[in-house]
Amino acid sequence: MLNLVLFGPPGAGKGTQAEFLIESFGLIHLSTGDILRNEIAAQTELGLQAKQFMDKGELVTDEVVIGMIKNKLTANSEAKGFIFDGFPRTVAQANALDEMLDENKTPISAMLCLEVEKQELINRLLNRGKTSGRSDDQDESIIENRISVYHEKTAPIKDYYAAQNKHFDIDGMGSVEEIAARLKETVKAL
Ligand code: AMP
Repeated sequence: MLNLVLFGPPGAGKGTQAEFLIESFGLIHLSTGDILRNEIAAQTELGLQAKQFMDKGELVTDEVVIGMIKNKLTANSEAKGFIFDGFPRTVAQANALDEMLDENKTPISAMLCLEVEKQELINRLLNRGKTSGRSDDQDESIIENRISVYHEKTAPIKDYYAAQNKHFDIDGMGSVEEIAARLKETVKAL
């Protein structure tokens, strides 16, 4: 079983690259951002609560996102593997994920961290905001906050996976195809 954490700041290209990895390795894509946006679209209680955090570029509570991932893992128990996109985002989430995967003896294989310069992240997000309809991609101060939250709460997870020898930095600058090739090479070498 191949379980990958696709990691990096907002705008690093996680969603785009996840599509390539799913195709190449037959994995199931679990994006907590997508799941939350679906909840908002369906106007569920969870979605309405999450929206208040997402609109400001803050993180939704650990309890909520961990519960969502747990449900998805149970619902896809026959999967060949998963690609986690936008999860975990805190050390508490990383711990919870390890515990959930331990139950099935299917640990994380690697954490692939896309490294992208800050101005490029801002440009990509503002560009995506023109067509994505995502309000958190359209306001530069919210984008700045999302990047700060990443550095403060999410980036420390790199050390968590490095301690398990599972952390790989990938150059996330360049064309979509170039970055996809770098990721694929790293996964094949695992
Ligand atoms: P994303 O689509 O990954 O950029 O996520 C959009 C927003 O959803 C984030 O800014 C957070 O508010 C929320 N979110 C997504 N994933 C998580 C997570 N793992 N933990 C907490 N909040 C999350």
